[in-house]
Amino acid sequence: MMSRPRVYLSPPHMSGHEQAYVQEAFASNWVAPLGPNVDAFEQEFCEVVGASHAVALSSGTAALHLALLHLGIGPGDEVLVSTLTFSASANPILYQHGRATFIDSETDSWNMNPALLAETLHQRAQQGTLPKAVILVHLYGQSADIDPILAACQEYDVPLIEDAAEALGATYKGKTPGTYGRAGIFSFNGNKIITTSGGGMLVSDDEALISHARKLATQAREPAPHYQHAEIGYNYRMSNILAGIGRGQLQVLEDRVQARRANFAFYREELSDLPGITFMPEAPWGRHSRWLTVITIDPAQYGADRETVRLALEAENIEARPVWKPMHLQPIFAGYDSVGGAVAESFFANGLCLPSGSNLHPTDQARVVEIVRRCNANIHHEVWR
Ligand SMILES: *Cc1c(COP(=O)(O)O)cnc(C)c1O
Repeated sequence: MMSRPRVYLSPPHMSGHEQAYVQEAFASNWVAPLGPNVDAFEQEFCEVVGASHAVALSSGTAALHLALLHLGIGPGDEVLVSTLTFSASANPILYQHGRATFIDSETDSWNMNPALLAETLHQRAQQGTLPKAVILVHLYGQSADIDPILAACQEYDVPLIEDAAEALGATYKGKTPGTYGRAGIFSFNGNKIITTSGGGMLVSDDEALISHARKLATQAREPAPHYQHAEIGYNYRMSNILAGIGRGQLQVLEDRVQARRANFAFYREELSDLPGITFMPEAPWGRHSRWLTVITIDPAQYGADRETVRLALEAENIEARPVWKPMHLQPIFAGYDSVGGAVAESFFANGLCLPSGSNLHPTDQARVVEIVRRCNANIHHEVWR
């Protein structure tokens, strides 16, 4: 049998609008980490998400690092962060030699549990050692319950940074997650809902924060002709070529959300009758972009665990991925505190991300469904034989 082309979890999906902007950059010789596409992308992005200021950067991770730098996170400083996430949410804390403390998830959105956060802040306040920041992650295209989290942060005057790398296109009470805290970060990595091949954005309503981040990202040059430096600088700016790709992608963001939500609807239609399969819920406070369709598989009911299903898909050259391994279980974060963790652990144990690209072909999606169903049917066949 001829092997079929690989079906990826979440591949890039160009719109056709990108090349005009890229060509313009070549034609005008703005082949540099600044230029008209960068300025326009920042402005257009602000309009789409409803932020006042933005700086386009080389990655979402760089955006998070700059937010921590601006807030003065340094050696030994505690930062509270969601445990159920990708390591990029927490690595910048270690870049600064800070101390990460991981907060467990709730079950409505799978994101940070607001009650656990409030309790932790309360307890820290009583000890007289408040954390320097909170990093709130909006996972898989869905916003956390921001209001109570923001209220807790405001009560103790701890700045909130939102990691919305996976949540562009989602809403929280009609607004974009990532625009509620002191700063928000977005990612345009190749697997995200829109991409620049690699890139990120830092947004804030605080103009001073964004202009400081812009300076740090440009080698921290002071305004002097002889290249004066009074702070440690970074080379974190986005190229004008890539910003052109971003402008083309931004135009189709809403189409991409609709396509991803349609993927989800099809999976739910075709799989929700199976025993032990449940879908990541859509919390009542907003729209889930369904960047990824995520299911949990109860092995006792389904007769197969998520790893069996993942390997069955892999055998047919289809990429599926376990839910993020929580940060409090990662060797690199051994020795850091965590508050709870059992909820995130159960999502990791049973959770599986299915192919979710906005360009996923219906034939391929039907194959995914068939293979997942077969894992259940095999077991029943054996039981009944
Ligand atoms: C992708 C991602 C990031 C990092 O973004 P990059 O642009 O790849 O650096 C950060 N946090 C989360 C939750 C992500 O999924």
